[in-house]
Amino acid sequence: MPLLTPYVAARSTELPTRESELTIEFASCGPRLAYRNTRPEDRDHHGNLWARVSQSTGGRVLYDCMNVHRQRACMEQLLCQVCGGPADRNEHGWLFLDWRREDSPPTWPEKSITSMPPLCAEHARVSVRQCPFLRRSEYAVLRVRKPQPYGVSGAVYQLTDTGWHTSENDVLSPYDQPRLPGMLASRLHRQLRNVTVVDTS
Ligand SMILES: [Zn+2]
Repeated sequence: MPLLTPYVAARSTELPTRESELTIEFASCGPRLAYRNTRPEDRDHHGNLWARVSQSTGGRVLYDCMNVHRQRACMEQLLCQVCGGPADRNEHGWLFLDWRREDSPPTWPEKSITSMPPLCAEHARVSVRQCPFLRRSEYAVLRVRKPQPYGVSGAVYQLTDTGWHTSENDVLSPYDQPRLPGMLASRLHRQLRNVTVVDTS
């Protein structure tokens, strides 16, 4: 079987945000990161600034990297990360694959926080067979009744004498905590609640 090209996977020809596009904006909540040419879609309704990344169908597929826009669309609309169609849902909830990470809660997979979008039934089966990463870790196929929007993660910029700089690339900013003014969001996270482990044996 040929390897799938996941819908969410980034491509080598998709260009990230350039630091020269960024500026400082003096909003009512204080100074914050912004684009020089602002567009309404730059921020989500929580006020987080999102990375601008081009979308392309050319180049090499970067299997270990997700395109910002496609990851966000899949997570927002609960679309399959492999084909971009609707994720599978039954009376026990939506279909997700999740694995135990160092920072997973002791209740894992219940209350796991993930940026991996859900799957359709066919691609959950194929992913379990094909994904080399899953073979190296403890994972579970899940039905999730409440995949609750949790927050965003991304790079956090700090303004210095020579412009915006970032040293932290993967900071999680939950919606129930104050916004980070230097955040450039690149992933949407959900918390998996009311989960049922599906037996795949
Ligand atoms: Zn699919």
